Amino acid sequence: MDRSVDLETCFGASNYAPMPVTIVRGKGVYLWDVNGRRYIDMMGAYSAASFGHCHPRLVRALTDQARQLDTISRAYFNDRLGAFLARACSLTGMDLALPMNSGAEAVETALKAARKWAYKVKGVPADRAEIIVCDGNFHGRTITIIGFSSVPQYRDGFGPFPPGFKSVAFGDAQAFRAAITPNTTAFLVEPIQGEGGINVPPAGYLAEVARICREHNVLLICDEIQSGLGRTGQLLACHHDGVQPDAVTLGKALGGGLLPVSLFLARREVMQVFQPGDHGSTFGGNPVAAAVGLAALDTLIDEKLIERSARLGAHLCARLAAIENPIIREVRGRGLFAGLELEPDLASAAAVATLLLRAGVLTKDTHRNTIRFAPPLIIDESQIDWAVERVAEVLDEFRRRESSTLVDVKTDTLG
Ligand SMILES: *Cc1c(COP(=O)(O)O)cnc(C)c1O
Repeated sequence: MDRSVDLETCFGASNYAPMPVTIVRGKGVYLWDVNGRRYIDMMGAYSAASFGHCHPRLVRALTDQARQLDTISRAYFNDRLGAFLARACSLTGMDLALPMNSGAEAVETALKAARKWAYKVKGVPADRAEIIVCDGNFHGRTITIIGFSSVPQYRDGFGPFPPGFKSVAFGDAQAFRAAITPNTTAFLVEPIQGEGGINVPPAGYLAEVARICREHNVLLICDEIQSGLGRTGQLLACHHDGVQPDAVTLGKALGGGLLPVSLFLARREVMQVFQPGDHGSTFGGNPVAAAVGLAALDTLIDEKLIERSARLGAHLCARLAAIENPIIREVRGRGLFAGLELEPDLASAAAVATLLLRAGVLTKDTHRNTIRFAPPLIIDESQIDWAVERVAEVLDEFRRRESSTLVDVKTDTLG
């Protein structure tokens, strides 16, 4: 092991269990380790690296702005924020945007907006607002958000949790309808669950949910932090169902892989509940974040990465689905967002991810014994083919060595 690993292990909290590789350089879809070995990044930093690593246009936006003006706080106007918010609103069809940093902060902002809207606009009695979420959700790691997670480890030891949340089956519009009460304020949903296992709901689910929301005056809030910005082959994954939600959260790829940049976007009626002093963030909307966020949105459109994700995603899914191996239980996905679920009795996704690392392919296991693929959207067909060939080889090898004792890795250590 190299010294940086020793130091990290000695001085770092062990809230992650990184795979045994130390990355020192990145360019496009490739990453290099301390020994100069090259890997193809099929994981894309949980979809934060959608533009490929160190994209020249984004690096230029970052460094040009860093030389000109850094953080000044929101106590003053800066000359970069407006253009970023305007671009984000016009692309998503939302009226107003509120900049934060991490994804979890954007989700917290959504929850605060929904609650205040409940009291100021909908007329829910004080402190009675209810928000409905989905089983298998992932919305971040704050106390409020993990309070409605269905993963026991995420909650264990962190209670008590804020009340006012209810969880229903993902993909089941009638379960959602049945959970609505007069105090229901919002439905918070990932159009495709990422961490939960790349779970694609039945066709028409979101459209049905949107109808039910309208019928009951309930806000539809789509968490598009992972599924948005072209990942699934549409700008927002909810567009596959022709749905325009009341509010959206964006993050991850919005920072171009360079910085944490997130947004909560909403209709005017929702966002107008925030008055000066109600909510804020020291770094949210800083000039560097705004410059990078705007460059990320422009790059997404100028390089036609949404169309590319749809086209190459179909290729990736077809190639994965064509692998013949009894270890594979299911291939799920949309655009360049795919999950390969393995038979739990035959293979552990974590062990397969470790073998893939040795074969030069970076992936990561997630829930439901699934290997996730969210490569940079700039990936090309031959790079996908190369990676899928390695996947097929590793699964073959795994099956051959099935009976022997392979790597026994915990399946539940994730982002
Ligand atoms: C990653 C993720 C978050 C949390 O983002 P952070 O930047 O890690 O706080 C929230 N929602 C979804 C859907 C995510 O995938």
